[in-house]
Amino acid sequence: MAEEKKVIRKEIKATGEMNRVMAKYFYELDNAAKTGEKKIAWCTSVGPAELLLSMGFLVYYPENHGALLGATRMATDMIPHANALGYSPDICSYLTADIGAYVQGETPLSRAFKGIEKVPKPDVLVFNTNQCRDVQDWFSFYAKEFNVPLLGIYTHYGVTDVTEAIVPSIAKQMEELIPPLEEISGNRFDMDALKKVVGLSRECSDLWKKVLETAAAVPSPLTFFDGTIHMGPAVVLRGTQKALDYYKILLKELEERIENHEGAVQEERFRIYWEGMPVWGRLRAHSELFSSLKACVVASTYCNSWIFTDFDAEDPFNSMAKAYTGLFIVRSDEAKERYMRQMMEHYKINGVLYHDCKTCPSNSNNRYGMPRRLEKELQIPSLVINGDLNDLRLISDEQTKTNIEAFIEQLEENK
Ligand code: SF4
Repeated sequence: MAEEKKVIRKEIKATGEMNRVMAKYFYELDNAAKTGEKKIAWCTSVGPAELLLSMGFLVYYPENHGALLGATRMATDMIPHANALGYSPDICSYLTADIGAYVQGETPLSRAFKGIEKVPKPDVLVFNTNQCRDVQDWFSFYAKEFNVPLLGIYTHYGVTDVTEAIVPSIAKQMEELIPPLEEISGNRFDMDALKKVVGLSRECSDLWKKVLETAAAVPSPLTFFDGTIHMGPAVVLRGTQKALDYYKILLKELEERIENHEGAVQEERFRIYWEGMPVWGRLRAHSELFSSLKACVVASTYCNSWIFTDFDAEDPFNSMAKAYTGLFIVRSDEAKERYMRQMMEHYKINGVLYHDCKTCPSNSNNRYGMPRRLEKELQIPSLVINGDLNDLRLISDEQTKTNIEAFIEQLEENK
């Protein structure tokens, strides 16, 4: 039987600094919303944030708020309020938790940050359908609610190779956002400002990549669960110096751990790849469960989604189009499997866990035969768990625990 041991969680010291950086970000947004000193754009997490920042907007990300609702376990109570407005319990539970919280006048921000009472009101909403259709519906709700403009980029889907036939059409859509954004912001578009922001985003992406790649070390200094917390600045502060400053601190700490052979999981014995969304309300429970089984979830598609190696400050529009279309979630199974093969090898993976996330089909890659195909080819066992990113009613904790324990036992037998 796989041995379950007492869990000692190894805390990352840089967490305090990250909390300070994130608090500053939210207070800045709150101040702008209260004073009107700066315009606020709401943007999807892998939308054209660089363009918005370069035009002087502060950028707020509703998906980040959705994740906070999940992590604070507020989401499950909020979802029914969106269902009552006609948003199905089967669609994105970021969307339903966020809209439900809005209509209830609730936000985890007011619990975490004294003085913040609500999410910052937008002056414009900008989405990119590269990840799913839900973001467009989500932002449409708020466009009507706040009576502000809604702008969008419509991306190809199921892309195998990001070819020259695809890139210009996305780049053009980004350029077409300029006139309305100039009107809303009151600022003229400045190519040099955009180049600077794209350069900063690229640096952020490179540092975040280095952070995640520390997990290739054996033992790994980092777990997927740490990654889901520490990716905050890569999501909401990319394109700013603040994100770079933070990741330099975090990277140093992780490199020191590698030098000292300090693993994030004591006596690491198994290395797992997490494919799909995290279960935000169960991060700690899942982290402790894997640690207790001497299993380290070393890598994931999810945390890697904020690595944009295509950003090029010298060619901002085309490179943004490439970066935001080259994402895992936009790609065909053929391209996804190519990527997974590299990840298995790079991180020396013993087993793959697929999260079949009930309300996010776009991030559930187990549904069209991928686990079987990769298992057969790579001889790396896999497990599918059923759950959800935010709606805890869709999760059976007992079942998940039993399945993960049995999976680790199987890996033990294979050793
Ligand atoms: S990708 Fe999934 S979790 Fe993200 S907004 Fe779309 S449906 Fe929601």
